[in-house]
Amino acid sequence: MQPTVLVVEDEIPLVAMLRYNLEKEGYRVEEANDGQEGLVKVAEDKPDIVLLDWMLPHLSGLEVCRQLRRNPETRNIPIIMLTARGEESDRVRGLDAGADDYIAKPFSPGELLARIRAVLRRIRPALADEVLTYEDLVMDMAAHRVSRGGREVKLGPTEFRLLRHFLEHPGRVLSRDQLLDAVWGRDVYVEQRTVDVHIRRLRKALNAAGETDLIRTVRSAGYALDSSGES
Ligand code: CA
Repeated sequence: MQPTVLVVEDEIPLVAMLRYNLEKEGYRVEEANDGQEGLVKVAEDKPDIVLLDWMLPHLSGLEVCRQLRRNPETRNIPIIMLTARGEESDRVRGLDAGADDYIAKPFSPGELLARIRAVLRRIRPALADEVLTYEDLVMDMAAHRVSRGGREVKLGPTEFRLLRHFLEHPGRVLSRDQLLDAVWGRDVYVEQRTVDVHIRRLRKALNAAGETDLIRTVRSAGYALDSSGES
């Protein structure tokens, strides 16, 4: 799976350098050359991460960052701010506005790529690593394959997405609404009990006879990927 990086930057040579290095690493690259266009592109392309220059025409990077964080549709998209300013107070302002990380120009491509990987790993593990694991459960994103204790587990597409979301948030209790948003998307109307149906199928596929149930039901709260066996 190729993560999409949106580069919002008005220095065209820098955009070209970033595009070259990011594409070499297997990222898909979209670009915008001012703040307004950046907001439009985020809405259109739903990038996996945004590299956002601070000094942009029309709308500053800081303002773009604030607007992205205010909008529920874009609130969770990771943002790395790029800036010529290296002062600590700017760094704090950037992070206050909701940026996930901050890198001062000039930076080396290697440094930036490392930061991107780190942010993606923290926020969207499935994009940074090709393999997600929990206990004896292994999900290979590239091969689209799941196994438990070496035994292959066959999953339907919805159960696969459900399990992936659990593996990205191990141990955390996820409500039915959160699961609906993450797996079915915000634009689709699906009843909450649909989640229960797919959880049941997922459990059946994952837990062969005698194996610990890896999915915990938390009464009136939701579900968690959790092998502790409590309920
Ligand atoms: Ca600039």
